[in-house]
Amino acid sequence: MAQEAQIVTRIAPSPTGYMHIGTARTALFNWLYARGRGGKFVLRIEDTDRARSTPEATQAILDGMAWLGLDHDGEAVSQFARADRHRQVAEEMLATGHAYKCFSTQDEIAAFRDAARAEGRSTLFLSPWRERDDHPDAPYVIRLKAPRDGQTIIADQVQGDVTIQNATLDDMILLRSDGTPTYMHAVVVDDHDMGVTHVIRGDDHLNNAARQIQIYRAMGWPEPVWAHIPLIHGEDGKKLSKRHGATGVMEYAEMGIPAAAMRNYLARLGWSHGDDELFTDAQALEWFDLSGIGKSPARLDMKKLGNVAGWHIANAEDADLVAQIGQFLDITGQPSLSQVQQDGLTRAMYCLKDRARSLPELLDKGRFVLDNRPLDYDEKAVSTLDPVSRGILRELTAQLQNASWTRDTLEGVLNAAAVSHGLKFGKLAGPLRAALSGRTVSPSVFDMMLVIGREETLARLTEAASLGD
Ligand code: GLU
Repeated sequence: MAQEAQIVTRIAPSPTGYMHIGTARTALFNWLYARGRGGKFVLRIEDTDRARSTPEATQAILDGMAWLGLDHDGEAVSQFARADRHRQVAEEMLATGHAYKCFSTQDEIAAFRDAARAEGRSTLFLSPWRERDDHPDAPYVIRLKAPRDGQTIIADQVQGDVTIQNATLDDMILLRSDGTPTYMHAVVVDDHDMGVTHVIRGDDHLNNAARQIQIYRAMGWPEPVWAHIPLIHGEDGKKLSKRHGATGVMEYAEMGIPAAAMRNYLARLGWSHGDDELFTDAQALEWFDLSGIGKSPARLDMKKLGNVAGWHIANAEDADLVAQIGQFLDITGQPSLSQVQQDGLTRAMYCLKDRARSLPELLDKGRFVLDNRPLDYDEKAVSTLDPVSRGILRELTAQLQNASWTRDTLEGVLNAAAVSHGLKFGKLAGPLRAALSGRTVSPSVFDMMLVIGREETLARLTEAASLGD
């Protein structure tokens, strides 16, 4: 049986100080594509801009990837560290006649452009050195000998066939006069050397592909499959900016969006599988394909993200949610939970997770199990604890001493208490809720009683009953 070549995708971010959600989405698409097909997903840090490429900026990318759970194969590759190899390939292209040394100075290039402009010609620089073989002893750059006629077709999996007239492509610089490679050259050499078979990236790089293809051809290297995906826009359809919502992926971690929900949400930003909005990683891995990527920009929708987060929280394992809360507290620099608090939260999780749309919402709903006595009653809770209510709580304390601690029995006891005071159960639930949680909004009183147990319930009722004594 013929063995299909292994798929290799990559993410090649430039360190900018943080990981943009557009980069995160591109990384996710590449990860899904490779991992769903038994392929490899590699990471290259495009750190040739030395001013921006600080260790912190690189770390920010690694942090974003780690939080999103996008594991890559092998070590992260530094583009800067590969400069010798980039030079070597440029020299090889020189030797095979696919590139040439250009000695034109900045002033000469500027003069060429001025003249072209004055004559109404294209300002695309045509180097006189392309056809010369005399080599003065002067600084030079190495330029690609790009085809002048015909056209280059990018067979793009998202955009379709994109045709570029070769006359619009200049002889781009591969190596600067100081011997450093240009971005355009380094990307191709690195992608080839890293065995990248599919280049899936933002469509702001579409035009670059036409130029990059020339290097593949000059070197006789197999061209990768191209897929240029539309950028993410804001809700108003304009280019994404801060005013549309968070643009850094870690800002979502700080909001307490579960990483699985972020993956689900980002996958749907530009890709679709029928009407499926909510799905697991396993489903995304099975379904993801380049044919499902749309041609128009996806719009960031924070409300939808909240719904996706809610679904993932409701369907997650309790212990996993507690672990994620631990990570959230860590990321946001908050004190971590004690083992007792973690155990309590795990027991309570079944009654917290149904309608929460973020991890901090879970924490907030879970305060009743996290807080110790004496509870810090909020003002509204205190107002429900009037003398009559406190009297009822005192009576209940006695009745609950010997009740068996099951939902049915507790319902029976509390309903009977309400009836005996001529109250609807709702009237009784207010002060009970206040006593058990210190608040007027909380999980149901039965859930709270079952979670904290008899002893703690009685202690809280006693404490609330004596309020104001
Ligand atoms: N380093 C480029 C960027 O951050 C990506 C290059 C590529 O994907 O080819 O936009």
